[in-house]
Amino acid sequence: MAASVLRLYEGLPASYEGPSPSRRPMPAPPEFRPPENATPEKVEEARKRHEARLAQKPPANDARVRHIELIGPYAQTEGPSPESLKKVYACGHLAGGHGPACARTILTSLARRAYRRPVTPADLEPLLRLAAASVKRGESFEQGIALALRAMLVSPDFLFRIERGQAAAPGNPVQRLRPYALASRLSYFLWASMPDEELFRCAGQGTLRDPAVLGAQVRRMLKDPRSRALVEAFGGQWLQFRALESVTPDRERFPAFENNLRFSMRRESELFLASVIQERLARPYGIPGVKGQQFRRVDLSGTPRGGVLTEGSVLTVSSYSTRTSPVLRGKWVLDNLLAAPPPAPPAGVPRLDESTVGVDRSLRQQLEAHRSNATCAACHVRMDPLGFGLENFDAVGAWRTEDGKFPVDATGALPDGRKFSGPEELRAILRQDKDAFTRALTEKLLTYALGRGLERYDRRTIKAIAQRVAERDYRFSVLVMEIVQSLPFQMRKGDGGPS
Ligand SMILES: [Zn+2]
Repeated sequence: MAASVLRLYEGLPASYEGPSPSRRPMPAPPEFRPPENATPEKVEEARKRHEARLAQKPPANDARVRHIELIGPYAQTEGPSPESLKKVYACGHLAGGHGPACARTILTSLARRAYRRPVTPADLEPLLRLAAASVKRGESFEQGIALALRAMLVSPDFLFRIERGQAAAPGNPVQRLRPYALASRLSYFLWASMPDEELFRCAGQGTLRDPAVLGAQVRRMLKDPRSRALVEAFGGQWLQFRALESVTPDRERFPAFENNLRFSMRRESELFLASVIQERLARPYGIPGVKGQQFRRVDLSGTPRGGVLTEGSVLTVSSYSTRTSPVLRGKWVLDNLLAAPPPAPPAGVPRLDESTVGVDRSLRQQLEAHRSNATCAACHVRMDPLGFGLENFDAVGAWRTEDGKFPVDATGALPDGRKFSGPEELRAILRQDKDAFTRALTEKLLTYALGRGLERYDRRTIKAIAQRVAERDYRFSVLVMEIVQSLPFQMRKGDGGPS
């Protein structure tokens, strides 16, 4: 919770965005200087004292808030809202006065939404019995409905997405998904939520498999604000910005990394992905409720940054807490951008001696020594150069030209002989691998859409989809449409077949 009093903002440094900002530059906060030759415990104590002093420091205009009083809410509404009553009491008797058919009407409508499909008598009977038994015990009609609703909410049909296929031809283990299961797959893919009334309607009419109808639904769903879930959930997996929440870069080495930066990094990645998904570029974005701190797409032309590869979130999650890792970053690029993940390292390989990194030899020299081992070299020759091309970004993504006492050497050569120097040239090389990138994105998105790992037999699908996406100008909507119309998305393995 935050409260602001306008007057306090007057005369503050311009970064506060208050009225009549001060023209004096903001004084830099005192630096933390660890006592010399102190033990780690003593340094830790000194840092704690330093932070306590910083917290004590009053804001720039010497104003402090002694206390804030919050009063209210004055007219708090109690009980269910009219909207939820309408959703529950499908019979229309919002104020009570139900008839004998009401329980069936209400529970049919609720179960259809909860199970995301039409309900059968076998679904309904136990629910009706529960409601009736409750009334028989002397409870109210509403309490009876509440009990049946609780039963629905613990039912596997609600908790799991149970996909039922249509009868398959004899000997064919693959079945077409039933229309309601297809509607659910589609809405959990694009919205991470249940189908809405319109999707239910298409499923009910049996038209969802018609490519024209399916195409129109996909376009409608991508335009809907609910497709934000695709950015958050898929992006969180693909670009791993969810991992940002748990990274803790070493505080001594990266004092600038705090939660605000963590938040901005994640936001940067989300906005980038949102612009890709909605096929809108350079559109100004605002975070609702965070006035004055709007995130704008910074024009980075002419600078070494651009695209996912140089985003702070990616550079941070592919680093260790104390230093960058060209190996991790190279692996990240191979896996997420080039669809060519390296195998796991063989057992018994000696790890880098962390205590000597950057002391008597640079990280590059140490990794080169590591590569002299032939077993290691096969993979590292693919991973390391990609990571070294990004060495100008430190473990929290900030630009640097030196790593400790060693100048950064961001040159490298790929196994096919292409040479580069620095992130910009590396990016130019990777951009030539458009098809590898398209395949990588197809694999990641198909995995997400199906909710399962990909198998050998999916390879043909991936190749065909990537091909068609390339033919149609690498548009994200084409990629989604191709996935939705693909065999793995439209079919499932039959109950009797091998799984
Ligand atoms: Zn009623």
